[in-house]
Amino acid sequence: MFENRVFNFSAGPSMLPETVLEQAQKELLNYQGSGMSILEMSHRSKVYDAVIVAAEAELRRVMNIPENYKVLFLQGGATLQFAAVAMNLMTKNGKADYIVTGSFSKKAAKEAKKYGDVHIAGSTESENFCRIPRQSELDLRPDADYVHICFNNTIYGTHWDYIPETGNVPLVADMSSCILSEEVDVSKFGLIYAGAQKNMAPAGLTIVIVREDLIGNAMPTTPVVMDYKELADANSMYNTPPTFPIYIAKLVCEWIASIGGIKALNVINVRKAKALYDFLDGSKLFKNTVSPESRSLMNVTFKTGDEALDAKFVKEAAEVGLLTLKGHRAVGGMRASIYNAVPEEGVMKLIEFMKEFEQAN
Ligand SMILES: *Cc1c(COP(=O)(O)O)cnc(C)c1O
Repeated sequence: MFENRVFNFSAGPSMLPETVLEQAQKELLNYQGSGMSILEMSHRSKVYDAVIVAAEAELRRVMNIPENYKVLFLQGGATLQFAAVAMNLMTKNGKADYIVTGSFSKKAAKEAKKYGDVHIAGSTESENFCRIPRQSELDLRPDADYVHICFNNTIYGTHWDYIPETGNVPLVADMSSCILSEEVDVSKFGLIYAGAQKNMAPAGLTIVIVREDLIGNAMPTTPVVMDYKELADANSMYNTPPTFPIYIAKLVCEWIASIGGIKALNVINVRKAKALYDFLDGSKLFKNTVSPESRSLMNVTFKTGDEALDAKFVKEAAEVGLLTLKGHRAVGGMRASIYNAVPEEGVMKLIEFMKEFEQAN
């Protein structure tokens, strides 16, 4: 590891692979003989066109995205998609079903309500979002225009351990905090979106992967930069796309391919998460309160049950180079976000430190 770099467990923006940062640094002042940086380059230049075309090709390759899906590179974050999904898709019957499993899915449902009839088809809020509802608990409407889920709940540390059956109703998933961490059968979804700053690129880029037949029915009031048809027809260049984050996303996808693809990366992710959960399950001090089947590979939450002790842990961990372990304010305690780019060594070091802290306290 590069000298003086810490293990950063931030939920996002978060760590990027060191080799990616090094390559970006090497290419920064003079990108491939162009005499300029990607940061300074027209998005309509030939040189940049090759970058965005390669970014899409690499993403399609690592995620195995079928031909009949469009890939869009956008701005506005996952939060803008809360509205964009509704404005583009809630237009047949004006109805959509939302399954609420945490803060972001709740926000998504609230935003969509502005545009149509939103039904909460399942929620685990009364249980503090400690688990993902089972299929049998879902109250889905057959005439909904889509069903929305948040596949990985960044704040609560839960993850869908199955893909809900929605019949002919398209499934829409917010995958901001788990995209590229596990193999996903894209064909099971009508639309996948993700803010890139968790597992893919720096902040500023949002990815939308949408089945072609769902494009072209946006509400007439949809802003042009949110209209999937306008964006797809312009190959994400209706206006200026987030050029530098798209370039980093390309490098990240190349890095994933170079280490054996998402499948190989997932083996490491499972190993990292298992080591941490195994430690938590055996610990007398730290507790994880998520139902075992719903545990996230990417965001691991834990508490001591004593707020002062939690604060002491976060402070002392930072002193030994384990940073950003404070839990989200909605949950308290600690959260270790162990995205793709967090090295296994960092997770092992965290576990060692937790052991020492447990003994000392
Ligand atoms: C971070 C996050 C968001 C919000 O993303 P922005 O890009 O900040 O809008 C939404 N959903 C999930 C699951 C997230 O992790």
